[in-house]
Amino acid sequence: MLNFFPTPYPGELWYSVLCRYHMRTGHMKSATTIQELFDGRLHAAMGTFYPTKAINDILGQLPPGLLDIRDIILNHTLFPYFYRINPVEKKEQALKELCEGTAITPTWLWKTDSSANGTSELRYCPLCRQEDVSLYGETYWHTVHQIPFMSVCPKHGCRLERIPFNRGQVNEKFFIPNLYCRDTEPNADIEKYEMPLAKTLLAYLDMPLGVGPTEGVNNLVQAFCNKGYMTIAKRFNTILDSDMVKKALEGFYGPELVRRCFGEKVMPYQLRRIGNWTVLSPERYALLATMIGQAPRTTFSAKPIPDRIEEKLVKLSLQEVPLTKKGIAEKMNVKPHQLDFLLGRYGMEPFWSNAKKGNDGTGSMNKYVKAYYDQAGKACVDQYAKKKGFHATSEFVRYALDRIMELDEPKTPGTAS
Ligand SMILES: [Zn+2]
Repeated sequence: MLNFFPTPYPGELWYSVLCRYHMRTGHMKSATTIQELFDGRLHAAMGTFYPTKAINDILGQLPPGLLDIRDIILNHTLFPYFYRINPVEKKEQALKELCEGTAITPTWLWKTDSSANGTSELRYCPLCRQEDVSLYGETYWHTVHQIPFMSVCPKHGCRLERIPFNRGQVNEKFFIPNLYCRDTEPNADIEKYEMPLAKTLLAYLDMPLGVGPTEGVNNLVQAFCNKGYMTIAKRFNTILDSDMVKKALEGFYGPELVRRCFGEKVMPYQLRRIGNWTVLSPERYALLATMIGQAPRTTFSAKPIPDRIEEKLVKLSLQEVPLTKKGIAEKMNVKPHQLDFLLGRYGMEPFWSNAKKGNDGTGSMNKYVKAYYDQAGKACVDQYAKKKGFHATSEFVRYALDRIMELDEPKTPGTAS
């Protein structure tokens, strides 16, 4: 049983609480404290930002009810961030197993930042440090600063200071915040993307546990489609154009960050898996959403955002003057053969001129009506048809005749035409 234990500060990393415990014991060596905390062992998974059984080990040595394990996991580890892309039932299941001490760290958590080859870092904000000291008389490691790809303080907008360590070192040694977080000038020289990205990452940590993906709805991918990143193929396996996405990401974040997050190439299958929420680590969603300025609440909303492509198609189909297939394709910024795939996707019938079947029952439009004009008269009709948006004068003539007949004999409901 431990004789005392520090109360966690708001947003304090669990490992930080242990560091402060170590400081208060007065022990010279980390090993002495670790042995005391972990039943004689010299090494425990106490420094991971993701919860481990090491939390249960310590709480087991405290009077029951002093600290609540669920509260520790939700408010003092990166669990809510790392589990953001999981359905709520999976989150609750993982949380239950963690509380019971039976959880196994999921494999998708292993490689969350490919730059961290063997090294990692603890980060702090000089301004948060100042606030901590004036409020509590000491500082502590903040959970939010340890989110992968967090480079600036989302509260103060200055660059985070970094304390690098060899991976695993935090499981053998206490990096006491008061010793490592120095009183330094805040550095406000940051890139344009850093603050919006920090805000997104913060939201991924802070939003209620229930906020997450909804099966069948993906507003992130929809927003990219609306912005013209959609590939149009016969089968819609590949939704987004990976080359276009990569280029845009590199323009926004620079190639190095994109490589760290997505790997050497932004692969079509990666984007496909993002589209159906099967990429479980959150950083790629965060980068994509931040780039297009999509709020986390929109990304994870169960209510789909409008499909601008479908809207545009429907609007074109309702136009009074029918367009040609080529004309529609041009307006949709696709090739004519892709238009068929698009209509297929939305279950729409072809609506361009000449697409409609004739009304003589044969389905073909091969009967014609002739009208004679002099040269000037013909030119006048041609010009008028063009002005009205018809691609051919004959289309206009047929439209005009149909219109006159319709005006004379309006169709009434219930009457077969
Ligand atoms: Zn700060």
